[in-house]
Amino acid sequence: MMSKLFDLSNKVAAVTGGTRGIGKAIALGLAEAGADIALLQRSIENTVTKKEIEKLGVKCEIIPCDLDYLDQVKLAVPETIKQMGSLDILINNAGIQRRSPAVDFSEEDWDSVMQVNLKAVWLLCQQAGRHMVPKQSGKIINIASLVSFQGGLYVPAYASAKGAVAQLTKALANEWSQHGVNVNAIVPGYISTEMNTALIEDPVRSRQILERIPAGRWGKPEDFVGPSLFLASEAANYVHGHLLAVDGGWLGR
Ligand code: NDP
Repeated sequence: MMSKLFDLSNKVAAVTGGTRGIGKAIALGLAEAGADIALLQRSIENTVTKKEIEKLGVKCEIIPCDLDYLDQVKLAVPETIKQMGSLDILINNAGIQRRSPAVDFSEEDWDSVMQVNLKAVWLLCQQAGRHMVPKQSGKIINIASLVSFQGGLYVPAYASAKGAVAQLTKALANEWSQHGVNVNAIVPGYISTEMNTALIEDPVRSRQILERIPAGRWGKPEDFVGPSLFLASEAANYVHGHLLAVDGGWLGR
């Protein structure tokens, strides 16, 4: 019973940002549960994650998808279905960060963050929905942020985009839950990945953040395997529009 509930055999999962960090851990976790994986990547030469996934005995293809280019974004889901035969799970994980005091924040940075962290997420959801709604099944997991709820510091575009990702998740869940498509989000706390190098290397901010995390440690990419497997599996069939915090208790404090 338990193994069947979380079994992803014969499922196809598409993951953005699977080259490293949280996305890589999620892609490997879903593959370990039996899913074939489409890695939606901007660098098709980067085969590090693909090779690790193939060692688990499932199929893995790299689909070219630079989220800075809308034509590639729009083609990624149809190309995944063409190469993999279907699409059952979409993980919108890729994201970028730009830090600067608001008065100096450039228009270029604003546009880049909005494009990668919000518009590309919306378009991939829409493309996936066009496939999943007619077949009356599918799981979409967006990666939101603590700044979907809080304002953050020096990250005005990122906070705006991630706030919108949380709302988009609920908006799509409202439409698609009746069609057997689950749209949910995972809300990471402070996770030690390349995205946070600037914070980790700032001794003052790093200490302030750590002191506020009830779990007493920063998160690791591996902390996302269980939560993403849950939301991608039959175990979450009646979970819709939920924002699942994986934050060491930060939001509850
Ligand atoms: P990383 O910086 O470690 O990895 C980012 C990933 O996104 C990489 O795989 C990168 O690919 C990909 N990516 C970036 N830009 C593009 C693009 N234009 N086209 C295609 N792929 C792109 O990030 P994390 O693992 O830390 O973050 C993953 C998600 O979690 C993000 O959405 C982030 O906002 C969110 N998050 C992270 C938190 C944290 O504390 N780390 C906290 C809250 C949310 P490439 O290898 O090509 O650069």
